[in-house]
Amino acid sequence: MKVLVAGGGGFIGGHLVKSLLDDGHDVRSVDQKPFDDWYQVHDAAENVVADLQYLETCMDATKDIDRVFNLAADMGGMGFIENNKALCMLSVLINTHLLESARANGVSRYFYSSSACVYAADKQTDPNVTALAEADAYPAMPEDGYGWEKLFSERMCRHFTEDFGLETRVARFHNVYGPEGTWTGGREKAPAAVSRKIAEAKISGDHVIGVWGDGLQTRSFMYIDDCIEGVKRLMDSDVTIPINIGSAELISINDLYDMVAEFAGIEITREHDLTAPQGVRGRNSDNTLILELLGWEPAISLQEGMRKTYDWVNQQVLGSTQSV
Ligand code: NAD
Repeated sequence: MKVLVAGGGGFIGGHLVKSLLDDGHDVRSVDQKPFDDWYQVHDAAENVVADLQYLETCMDATKDIDRVFNLAADMGGMGFIENNKALCMLSVLINTHLLESARANGVSRYFYSSSACVYAADKQTDPNVTALAEADAYPAMPEDGYGWEKLFSERMCRHFTEDFGLETRVARFHNVYGPEGTWTGGREKAPAAVSRKIAEAKISGDHVIGVWGDGLQTRSFMYIDDCIEGVKRLMDSDVTIPINIGSAELISINDLYDMVAEFAGIEITREHDLTAPQGVRGRNSDNTLILELLGWEPAISLQEGMRKTYDWVNQQVLGSTQSV
């Protein structure tokens, strides 16, 4: 098939392009960033730098395409989404114009990457969470800015299917992590940020590490290989409702620091910043529906995935300190 990966220069998009090429597909990868800033550039793909906020660009990007995977969005970790709500909401232009152009160009199937941030905040106030099931998204009270855009765009996919017959698939990703992603600069998420801080502490010898919040907040984290597998399984399925793609292995942020410190072989002292953004108190993925509908759930352990992620981030940190 001829497939489009929107946001192919990003973290998940870069891994997806590789996997689709390995499966033998003809891949067009589009991202607005200059090639130097793409996490991965796969020469076997048709790589294009273009801004998908605009309808004309989306019309070109979806021309002669069978399947669209929309991974393009202006996003980052908690520090970014809590302070850039308007920018996050502007990603609605990407999904709107990609849907419109997919319809006009006769695309057969469309994937949209939604997020656990669509879930109501009042269901995430306790670190001992009850995992979030798909039905918990309504009545709607998502994460301000980023989460509202995701919920709206999910809904638009549904109505493009109902009203125009465009087949859509929607995944609600729960924290995805792994190599070849954002690890510095303010948009990185917890697994990469923790890995970077520990790697820097190891190099500098200063083992006092700043932690956002009291560290008792809990999350689940999904390794990138599971994410890609889930996206491909969902896209090939006949599941038309939004489903969670996330790990059900819960950990506190304090325990995540301790896990990575052990990989690095150092003892750390955590210094908690209670004024820093920390998001919801606890969040986990309820995988009942994905197991029922796809007969599969993400299974790569946090130990295994974090070790690979720490090793990669550590290499980046070493590389950047050597080049200073
Ligand atoms: P990322 O920031 O690494 O990738 C997104 C890419 O989209 C970037 O390369 C960016 O340049 C590109 N982009 C932004 N605006 C664009 C535009 N106007 N035109 C073309 N390209 C544009 O993020 P990611 O982690 O790979 O996330 C991919 C998708 O998955 C996003 O929709 C994100 O909201 C969603 N998601 C990610 C996670 C996660 O933990 N990584 C969790 C939930 C949902």
